[in-house]
Order: sequence, then C-alpha cells, then structure tokens
Amino acid sequence: MPEVISSTIMMVPHEEHSPLQHTGLGEGRLEIICGPMFSGKTEELLRRVRRAQIAHQPTVIFKPATDTRYNKEAVTSHDANALPSVTVANSAEILNYLSSQARPITVIAIDEVQFFDDALPATCMRLADQGIRVIAAGLDLDFTAKPFGCMPELLCLAEEVTKLHAVCMETGRPAHFSHRIAGGENTVEIGEKDRYIPLTRQAFVAARNEENKQ
Ligand code: ADP
Ligand code: MG
Repeated sequence: MPEVISSTIMMVPHEEHSPLQHTGLGEGRLEIICGPMFSGKTEELLRRVRRAQIAHQPTVIFKPATDTRYNKEAVTSHDANALPSVTVANSAEILNYLSSQARPITVIAIDEVQFFDDALPATCMRLADQGIRVIAAGLDLDFTAKPFGCMPELLCLAEEVTKLHAVCMETGRPAHFSHRIAGGENTVEIGEKDRYIPLTRQAFVAARNEENKQ
C-alpha cells in the first residue's frame, strides 16, 4: 500500500507543463470594474496596474479622448491618484499603438470604457485571446439609469466583474446610480461633483420624481 501512494506522488512533476503554458495564453483575460461616478473605479484600475508594474509586466493605460477632465497624459482618480496614460480616439487606435511597440505589452488597462465605440468589446476579446490581461473600468449606467454604451457586452464577455458603489450623497448608504444635477439631456456630458452625485435607488427615484413635478 505505501508503494502505491509514493508512485502517485511521483506522477505530479509530469503535470507541471500545461498546454496553456506552452502557448503563452495563461495570462490572457478580461476584467471589468464598473459602478457609478465616485465609486472608486479609477482607483481600483490604478491599484491593479501598480501591482502589475511591481511584477515587471509591461503595462499601458489607455483613456478615450472624450474624457477631457484632468491631465491629458494621465489617468487621474477623484483622489488625485494618477499614472501616465495614452489618449486614443477609438478602439482601433489601441490596436495600432500596441502593434507599434517594440516590446510586447502583457497588461493593458482602459479607463472610461463606456465612451468607446462598438468595436471595443471585440478588441478586448482579441487581445485577451492573444494572451493579454485586459482591465477595463467604466460606468455601467448613464445618468438616466440605462446601460451605458458597450458596457453590457463587456460584462458578459469578462471572466471577472467587480461592481463598486459610491457613498450616496442623500443617505450615506452604498450608491448605485449617478444622478445629474446640472447640464443638459445629452448622454455624454463630462463633469464632476458640479454635475453628478451618486445616489441609492430610493434617493435616485425620489430625485427623478421631484424633477418630473417641476
Ligand atoms: P470613479 O473612477 O469611480 O469615478 P475615483 O476612483 O476617481 O472614482 O474616485 C474615488 C474617490 O472619490 C474615493 O476614494 C473618495 O475619496 C472620492 N469621493 C468623493 N465623493 C465620493 C462619494 N460620494 N462616494 C465615494 N467616494 C467619493
Ligand atoms: Mg474614474
């Protein structure tokens, strides 16, 4: 009997090399970070990027040209955490940038992903299939509580989804909605606390009802 056990243990080293390791596809995956404004999406994206950099993994952060807040050459959180980034006009420019790099990039992060074109989910899939770890952060809902841009597709395609909450400005409870307090009716209107506040469902419904009365 003891001989049987020892031969089982001897088998383990033969399984060390999985087919995935041979093809280099082991790290490719799609991670989504979503939630309302001020929920810490950018902070979480920066945290994951910093850890990848500590692991010496070549990393690039992209952001859409639509996001004109803060510095053009950095992704910046509301807490003024920042890392350098590349501004792109669309998802094709992400592919162009990556193919122009001399050394292969293994981790990419994309902030404000809801502002990208419809080709972004396919682009993320293509990169993840090629072995790249893709971390994408963005709003899941627009200010009318409708799913935002390509976010629904990304949520389905991702291996991992992190849904964050802000602090409700009415109740102090976890907030899931971004309520627009100033500005027009366009879906995309860039702004900060002057234009948006995070609210719970109850506070959001109450605010919309109040607006409809006026
Ligand atoms: P997001 O990218 O989701 O808009 P950020 O990561 O840029 O959020 O900023 C998160 C930070 O915003 C928090 O750590 C906190 O310091 C600050 N903050 C300001 N207002 C709020 C709020 N109502 N709820 C949560 N965090 C807030
Ligand atoms: Mg952000």
